[in-house]
Amino acid sequence: MIRCPNCKNEEFEGAMFCSQCGATLLGVEQAEPKESYQSYLIQVTFTDTDKVVTLQGKEKYVLGRIVPTADEVLVDLDMEDHQGYEKGVSRQHAMIKFTEEGFKVVDLNSSNRTFLDEEELYPGNEYVLAENCMLRLGKLRMNIRIQKV
Ligand SMILES: [Zn+2]
Repeated sequence: MIRCPNCKNEEFEGAMFCSQCGATLLGVEQAEPKESYQSYLIQVTFTDTDKVVTLQGKEKYVLGRIVPTADEVLVDLDMEDHQGYEKGVSRQHAMIKFTEEGFKVVDLNSSNRTFLDEEELYPGNEYVLAENCMLRLGKLRMNIRIQKV
């Protein structure tokens, strides 16, 4: 797509005039592609054990615990192997999601709460993740690093 420099209307590549305002589009550069979750990976380091898990390729990640029971629970980062139960991680504890403002974290009404750089999150509210920050789910601490791929 190319964007009209006059009215910001988007036109297909090869258009010579803006269909909205009639401005000439000759020589206008193609619009920058929108930032996408596919451009990033999230490296999660469990600080107690130095175990590293990489999240990549999804727009949303649910952080929690997969418990072998009948009910299907959607979890992208399973804390069962990281002392999740002992440290008070809920089955669906928090979610990381990509937005136009970058990655954000949301507490999913967990029992033992989520903390971002030791600030307690209000359940259901979205908080922007810095490129390098600390998350705590209950008592389970992890370092979050967001990297371009
Ligand atoms: Zn225009």
